[in-house]
Amino acid sequence: MLKPVMVVHGGAGNWHPERVNPGLEGVKKAAKLGFDILLHGGSALDAVVEAVASMEDDGSFNAGYGSSLTIEKGIEMEASVMDGKTLKAGAVGLLKDIKNPVKLARIVMEETDHIFVVGEGAEKLAKMFNFERRNPITELRLKYYEQQKQTLIDGKFGLPKLANLIKTHPELFDLETVGAVALDKDGNVAAATSTGGFPLKLPGRIGDSPLIGCGTYADNRSGACSATGVGEIAIRLVLAKTVCNYMEHGKSAQEAVENAIKLVNERTAGTYNSMGLIAVNSRGEIGAAHNSAHLCWAYITPELQEPVASMTAKILK
Ligand code: ASP
Repeated sequence: MLKPVMVVHGGAGNWHPERVNPGLEGVKKAAKLGFDILLHGGSALDAVVEAVASMEDDGSFNAGYGSSLTIEKGIEMEASVMDGKTLKAGAVGLLKDIKNPVKLARIVMEETDHIFVVGEGAEKLAKMFNFERRNPITELRLKYYEQQKQTLIDGKFGLPKLANLIKTHPELFDLETVGAVALDKDGNVAAATSTGGFPLKLPGRIGDSPLIGCGTYADNRSGACSATGVGEIAIRLVLAKTVCNYMEHGKSAQEAVENAIKLVNERTAGTYNSMGLIAVNSRGEIGAAHNSAHLCWAYITPELQEPVASMTAKILK
């Protein structure tokens, strides 16, 4: 029997000072919820889904309620989950009003023959399984949207590309995707990730969060990983799977996430530093690293009474 371990993140980026406390409270709550499930004999899969669902409901994160808006002021949420015992995975994208995208990702995994279902099809599936709906747009996201859009418009004269805009105004692009990884007492690992996607993204854009291997990966042979940051970078480097490969080849969970962030720095030098990673290996050792200013995250193990939460982990620039 192994000791259960729960690690969650609430996103990398530059967190506004007024959002730090709600963020830390939100990740602590999610870590505790997932850990209680593990302590009561629940699986790593149950724990990561419930922990992510709690952050989707929180309103402090860019996932579920509180998701970022697309350039057209729309909502396109996405999520994924992976079970390290079976290598089964489920993912959803282009969701407008599903209350808990991560739970729909689990439905795709367990109730269909597929892995990734988006848009109308995902909506139909949600209807079949009586999923709760909720308007995910919050006042705060609308305010951020207006600020971001205005900066983009002003940028006509000096900031023609969104990438430049992000580099020049990182404070407007808090990422705040959520994710969780866990190890249960039976030695099974799981990972889940959920997001509203990058602020001002083009409609139809899919990021790393629902892509198995990019934003989420879990395999009992190595461990589990959830990523946050500019999705296009995680996709190019197949980042979550890369972290698991490092663990499979003998790196500790901490070495694995650090090596992956170093890889990001080496291969994408000059791009906006935004990446954050959390991981757990199949022995229950944890890892967290980022090249962004902040990574909102929390973890809990049986030795701890309460989750430990922080706005930073190992920073590698
Ligand atoms: N990875 C997400 C995306 O690109 C953003 C984030 O991590 O906040 O959609």
